[in-house]
Amino acid sequence: MAKTVTDVICPFCGTLCDDLEVQVSDDGTKILEVYNACAIGAEKFLHSQAKDRITRPRMQQEDGSYKEVSYDDAIEYTAQMLANAKKPLMYGWSSTSCEAQSVGHEIAETVGGVVDNTATVCHGSSLIAIQDVGIPSCTLGEIKNRADVVIFWGCNPSHAHPRHLSRYSIFPRGFFTGKGHKGRKMIVVDPRNTDTMKMADMGLQLEQGRDYELLSALRVAFRGEDLPDVVAGIPKERIFEAAEVMKNARFGVIFFGMGVTQTLGKNHNIDEAIMVTKDLNEFTKFSIIAMRGHYNVTGSGAVLGWQFGFPFATDLSRGFARYNPGETTSNDLLRRGEVDAVFVLGSDPGAHFPISSVRKIARLPSVAVDPHITPTTEISKLHVPVAFVGVEVGGCCYRMDNVPIESRKVVEPPEGMMTDAEFLTRVRDRVGELKAKAPVGSPSTAQVQGA
Ligand code: SF4
Repeated sequence: MAKTVTDVICPFCGTLCDDLEVQVSDDGTKILEVYNACAIGAEKFLHSQAKDRITRPRMQQEDGSYKEVSYDDAIEYTAQMLANAKKPLMYGWSSTSCEAQSVGHEIAETVGGVVDNTATVCHGSSLIAIQDVGIPSCTLGEIKNRADVVIFWGCNPSHAHPRHLSRYSIFPRGFFTGKGHKGRKMIVVDPRNTDTMKMADMGLQLEQGRDYELLSALRVAFRGEDLPDVVAGIPKERIFEAAEVMKNARFGVIFFGMGVTQTLGKNHNIDEAIMVTKDLNEFTKFSIIAMRGHYNVTGSGAVLGWQFGFPFATDLSRGFARYNPGETTSNDLLRRGEVDAVFVLGSDPGAHFPISSVRKIARLPSVAVDPHITPTTEISKLHVPVAFVGVEVGGCCYRMDNVPIESRKVVEPPEGMMTDAEFLTRVRDRVGELKAKAPVGSPSTAQVQGA
């Protein structure tokens, strides 16, 4: 007889929905149905059941084919590669638990590596801005219960965070928002007429890369001063209209995405968006929240923060933590040829980095730890498959509003398969042994390539 696991969190996007119900077979090995998840969330669970799933580590051969190796061999190769590298890059961390992240960071500290996460190509600029000017923020629960003006700027949750609108921001009825979406005003700012914009009460289709100008114009409009006839492609009447809606909110929020963080202006756009929020607090209550992508990228920044004081791009190669985005960020290190080994866990730089960086990774000793076959696993010397966090093993994850939520295990992983925390712990212990006995000037990574 099938049984149902309730209050399951979805380990896909930063919305981290925690109301899923998963029907599993009586022996706890098969997922039969996933309820309450969106299509991409359900697919994450069902994909773990794929018949052609890789269940043992694979080492790339000279001719590009793969040979299955044991977990013991994979641990030895990874430990040797990291211990012998002068400055390994340890990248990813956004699709795993905080427990695994903290073990990975211990390894980086021991080997003098650089720890970077996916914020480096997404919300890193938001983190820089928050360090510059602070952030007036709140939880998604407060949005559900209080917000009557909701702005989506440079993001398209209808596609990227499909249940955000129904669980928190637009449709739900909360304590002070009993009319649901009928009591909320939705403003969308984007150069494209996205599916989210099509649902908005007010859509501001600005010119590409002109976010900073429009944000500045709003600040002028809040003070009732005059504007040029058109700013960033938006007539000034529309800007004054939007400014009035924002000022008259009872409780408002700006959700912003990569349309603002990775376009012209980058962290300065976010500085200005935060200043817009700060200005609005002279009239009413307003908050701002980053729409984080990977389900635990927020946790990666939090764990790095409490271990080393910085949220990404943390260079430990000098024996202490250094952080200088633009210098210690993954693509800058790869571009300058400054790293001599690459370890990737819980992300896919092969799909998201510029091709010049991907080529560099392909030429270096490399290990990819991932339950899936991805572009990164296909260019790495060693691919280590692991159990799915949030499906086959639990662990702590942080929602996009910095709320930690414990993910649940719903089924057993395939027999003999390690979790990423187990794999990292074994690598950490082996690296500790190697470092304890390594003489000064130990062999280079080139010497372990054939290990
Ligand atoms: S919105 Fe995100 S967290 Fe929620 S079910 Fe969909 S993919 Fe999962």
